[in-house]
Amino acid sequence: MTERGILIGRFQPPHLGHIEVMKQILEEVDELIIGIGSAQLSHTLDNPFTAGERVLMLNKALAEAGIDLTRVYFIPIPDVNNNAIWVSHVLSYAPPFTTVYSGNALVKRLFKERGFEVKTPPLYKRKEYQGTEIRKRILRGKNWQNLVPKSVLEVMEEIKATERMKDLSKTDYLLK
Ligand code: NAD
Repeated sequence: MTERGILIGRFQPPHLGHIEVMKQILEEVDELIIGIGSAQLSHTLDNPFTAGERVLMLNKALAEAGIDLTRVYFIPIPDVNNNAIWVSHVLSYAPPFTTVYSGNALVKRLFKERGFEVKTPPLYKRKEYQGTEIRKRILRGKNWQNLVPKSVLEVMEEIKATERMKDLSKTDYLLK
């Protein structure tokens, strides 16, 4: 039987910690489903990139890391306004899976309550390899380019990510 795992994240943007954890999961399972969480969100300071842009970044980053992409599925998953039904919602979008990988306490709780095996992969350089930190550095003009794979950087240049975020910061008054 094919052993399939799932990792759900917002990947705003994907960073080197995400790629490291994906490589590690692929040593344990045959196939990996990458759930692009909050798929409906884009063009805000917390969620600047569309689901399609995030798929593009992840696809290229995994190819760069030498991962066989026939073992990976990218599934955009919009949020729902009710945590109690979220797991059923995820199941309705994703291919079948047995193991859930997550460091997110809510994600872990919701899947455990539905009887799934949940594993917590180790965090890599969490202070730097973190979406919030990368987005902050982009807006403040600090160095962030070394925190994402080269291919993610190229996609971000292609879609003019810095310009987009700077424009968003002019209208998004929730800037943290
Ligand atoms: P994230 O992008 O912050 O992280 C994704 C995964 O990568 C996490 O499991 C985390 O442990 C791992 N990771 C992050 N940094 C790492 C590092 N440095 N090293 C190794 N691993 C690292 O995403 P998230 O916040 O966990 O995403 C959860 C998604 O699920 C969100 O989109 C959320 O909205 C969604 N969700 C929705 C509902 C709902 O709609 N009701 C309920 C629960 C969760």
